[in-house]
Amino acid sequence: MIESALYLVPTPIGNLDDITLRAIEVLKSATLIAAEDTRHSKILLTKLGIGAVKMISCNDHNEAERADIIATEVAAGGIVALISDAGTPMISDPGYKLTATLTQRGVKVIALPGPCAAITALCAAALPTDKFLFMGFLPVKDKELTEKLQSIAHSTTTTVFYESPRRIMTTLAKLKAIDPERKVALCRELTKTFESIYRMTVSELITYLEEHSDEVRGEFVLVVGPYEQAQSEELSAKAKEALTKLLPALKVKEACALVADLTGESRNRLYDYALTLKNQS
Ligand code: SAM
Repeated sequence: MIESALYLVPTPIGNLDDITLRAIEVLKSATLIAAEDTRHSKILLTKLGIGAVKMISCNDHNEAERADIIATEVAAGGIVALISDAGTPMISDPGYKLTATLTQRGVKVIALPGPCAAITALCAAALPTDKFLFMGFLPVKDKELTEKLQSIAHSTTTTVFYESPRRIMTTLAKLKAIDPERKVALCRELTKTFESIYRMTVSELITYLEEHSDEVRGEFVLVVGPYEQAQSEELSAKAKEALTKLLPALKVKEACALVADLTGESRNRLYDYALTLKNQS
């Protein structure tokens, strides 16, 4: 039994089999479907055997206005489904303003789990998943693009970006200038026939794509691994000094954790240095 509400319904990002049973049930029960692009979504709905359903568009330009229509439909006991062209609505897609307005007005909003290129790429990337940052599309303007990539130069989390084939080489070149050895995974055409995952350093990826320019097409998610301090890099003088001062008063592990928090240095490297100091004393 599907209750009256606005449902945020994820749809496939390529492979049409990637739609959940619950998503199909909601779409089949819907009295109104709000779609980013109604013509585009009709193709999927027809494949699911959903023919005659009332549809409205809901995009970046009109989603605030659509709140009235949807609130009225739900108040009358209707079931409304919000879908985007592909993937999860609201993830670099319309829906945020709509759900913010509706939830403020007390309208029930139910989010269904399902396909999302960012999460699929993160899992495929084989990079750390314990914490990650999703940054959506990168800025187009050169200065802002550089600043955005600089902002993750020393990030300790994995970062996920959406990127277009037209811009990917520029983005990779900028990232290489910041950290040539950074581990990345470029996830192309996820769930589709030509799905490819390139897991390598940013320098290697640029070389690979320069030699395989026919693969610079399709849809991309760029996953950038956390900053890793090169083995050859020295600990900063500040970190060494702090550790030297703290070691007589604290346990090695505690001192390393504190200095790591204060300086951003890796705990393992601090631990190695602490053992060297202990052996010298
Ligand atoms: N809401 C969608 C989601 O949940 O993934 C994302 C919509 S956003 C407008 C579209 C971008 O997502 C594409 O430009 C691409 O960067 C990424 N994307 C979508 N489908 C993809 C796929 N099958 N493979 C790789 N990237 C994809």
